[in-house]
Amino acid sequence: MSCMFKGVICDKAFGDYYILGKELGRGAFASVYKCQQKGTSNFWSVKLLNKKKYRKVAATEIGILLKLKHPNVVRLKEVFESAEEVHMVLELVTGGELFERIITRGHYSEKDAACAVKDMVTAVAYLHRNGVVHRDLKPENMLYEDLSEHARLKITDFGLSKILGTDATMHTVCGTPTYCAPEIFLGKKYTQSVDMWSLGVVTYILLSGYEPFIASTDREMFKKIIKCDYEFDSPYWDAISENAKDLIRKMLMLEPNKRITAEHALKHPWVMGLATKNVHMEEAVVQIKTFNAKRKLKKATEAVLAVARATHHLPLDMVQMVNIGDSTTPNTNTNITGGNEKMT
Ligand code: AMP
Repeated sequence: MSCMFKGVICDKAFGDYYILGKELGRGAFASVYKCQQKGTSNFWSVKLLNKKKYRKVAATEIGILLKLKHPNVVRLKEVFESAEEVHMVLELVTGGELFERIITRGHYSEKDAACAVKDMVTAVAYLHRNGVVHRDLKPENMLYEDLSEHARLKITDFGLSKILGTDATMHTVCGTPTYCAPEIFLGKKYTQSVDMWSLGVVTYILLSGYEPFIASTDREMFKKIIKCDYEFDSPYWDAISENAKDLIRKMLMLEPNKRITAEHALKHPWVMGLATKNVHMEEAVVQIKTFNAKRKLKKATEAVLAVARATHHLPLDMVQMVNIGDSTTPNTNTNITGGNEKMT
């Protein structure tokens, strides 16, 4: 059999070297399992993709991951290809998702949020330096390496990312609407700066527990995103530092070329931990709990849509219709207030 993807092992089988363990999770494109390297006590994770179904996705993800090596990016060890499947052996991370950790910890402050944002921005700066745009940055793609207190946060799931030339632009519909930059909705060509918009949305949620562009329907949400219509609502944002708000404003900048870059964000005082508050944010934790529970419920629907988009089973106008919805379609990106009633 000739290998479909460059750099993969296809003359040997995954099962010759690894014992498959329990399922760890399921994403839009694949199932992830724990596995053990035979004859050793080394554990890894393995992402299993069906070649026929997700040919394009697998090729994209593998090509990118093989090139990347960074402490804040989940490492790809090796890839096995058989006639039917692709087994991607990845670094095993055991610390859980970003929001899961926040809601289980006793103390959560701006300082903790800034540490998480710093890890994310560091990873994104590395990706961008290497001409890679993630395109689907969201809290469920941020995993902690282990359960220790100072565990690193790592970015995973590059299924929708794409290698870019230095000045290249893209115009493919992206992942999850809540985190999508306005230029994507508007069908404009876009660049690496879409990742900084997504990080702006994640940072906003990290500090408040709710999304910046809250609306009762997808269409309303879309309108708000393209106008960059969000607020730091009282009382939720009253105690949040000006430094944090300044960073969010710079990330959620409507014009992509004015949006802060990852390299510049790394030097922002809030990200650097200067003047970051260490006061416990009880209300934000309560809101994040609710947000996380709702997000998990809708995960299955999103996965189906993402697969349809990525494998081009839906034409572009259909995808936009599904994403944007119509005035009678309930918002699939349900916010914690269950509508456009703000947090009162
Ligand atoms: P993904 O297909 O990357 O979205 O992964 C789906 C789920 O599998 C994630 O939400 C995690 O719970 C789990 N997972 C993904 N990658 C890893 C990994 N490297 N180590 C442990 N669990 C993982």
